[in-house]
Amino acid sequence: MKSAILNKENFSKKEIITLLNSTGELRRQLFEKAAADKAAHLGNKVYLRGLIELSNICSKNCYYCGIRKDNKNIERYNLTDQEVIEAADFAFKNNYGSIVIQSGEMQSANFTTRITDLITKIKKLSDNKLGITLSCGEQTRDVYAKWFDAGAHRYLLRIETSVRSLYEKLHPNNAEHSWERRIECLNSLKDIGYQTGTGVMIGLPYQSISDLAEDLLFMKKTDIDMCGMGPYIEHEDTPLYAHKSHLLPLNERFELSMKMIAILRIMMKDINMAATTALQAIDKLGREKIIKAGANIIMPNITPGMYRNNYALYQNKPCTDESADDCKNCIAARVKIAGAEIAYNEWGDSRHFSKKNNKKLAP
Ligand code: SAH
Ligand code: SF4
Repeated sequence: MKSAILNKENFSKKEIITLLNSTGELRRQLFEKAAADKAAHLGNKVYLRGLIELSNICSKNCYYCGIRKDNKNIERYNLTDQEVIEAADFAFKNNYGSIVIQSGEMQSANFTTRITDLITKIKKLSDNKLGITLSCGEQTRDVYAKWFDAGAHRYLLRIETSVRSLYEKLHPNNAEHSWERRIECLNSLKDIGYQTGTGVMIGLPYQSISDLAEDLLFMKKTDIDMCGMGPYIEHEDTPLYAHKSHLLPLNERFELSMKMIAILRIMMKDINMAATTALQAIDKLGREKIIKAGANIIMPNITPGMYRNNYALYQNKPCTDESADDCKNCIAARVKIAGAEIAYNEWGDSRHFSKKNNKKLAP
């Protein structure tokens, strides 16, 4: 018999906690319902976003991240404009539909102009056909607006955790690392008209199941258009590594991530949800499992191979020694295994966003 909870459209915090703790039959029904909701609202398609890791230079010092400013054990890089354009051209020629430009956080007039110019050039080389998502951290409203006007139309900024007291444990206590500022940024992005994505890390030290339930309620309340969430993976050159005795085993962090994605799919049926690479770092079939559980976006890495090792947010990052071509073939095979189909040459915009704004879906 189907569980009474799963017949509901909206979950209370208590019900979310029950689902996050579920085992056996309830767990099975959770994944079955998430898959059915995804099929009914989004169909079978998986959209691609070619991921360009622009630079690992970062002005911030988040305690969990391997490319934080104070980590002296990595070589810093900054792709040349030419390398970024070539990667975007690869995505265009291989029919990816969209790219994501992600970077360590830099707030400067030079960086703003550089991104604006890159967006303009990429739009031009693809005859406006390549969709552009940015993930370049916290910026002023003016900067976000400039990039939007240049042609970027989606932005990913994870809240990392919706629980402020936990956020404060994971970041230095200063104005540069403020939870409120992150919320303000998310509000600006929405206001400007971006399809706005956020997300959290799952299985952080000191994070409870109740905190994770809060995260899902936060995403629903904020009415996000896209979500990218995945397991926290420790990195030995970061301050948070000292707290690793408080971590759940990796397979449990993976299991919780699957449940978070499945529950959010039931709560927000038409948002875009990414199968993040961190999931694949734990389980080789991670991304396939997550597509089955409710994700509909994959981000194949198209950063030039020689730099990928240095964009180590966490350890054992998968696919750092492959070329963009290897990545393409591997993803196509993986999506097929998951019983889904890659939609080439489509932007795959968030249906949630399009409905809310009464806009037609772009190409
Ligand atoms: N600097 C930008 C974008 C790059 S970081 C920003 O911070 O928004 C992208 C994401 O990597 C972060 O949002 C964080 O959630 C994730 N990340 C960083 N360190 C991680 C770790 N150790 N394990 C898992 N994810 C991590
Ligand atoms: Fe920089 Fe982003 Fe890493 Fe924080 S999470 S240190 S802002 S790259």
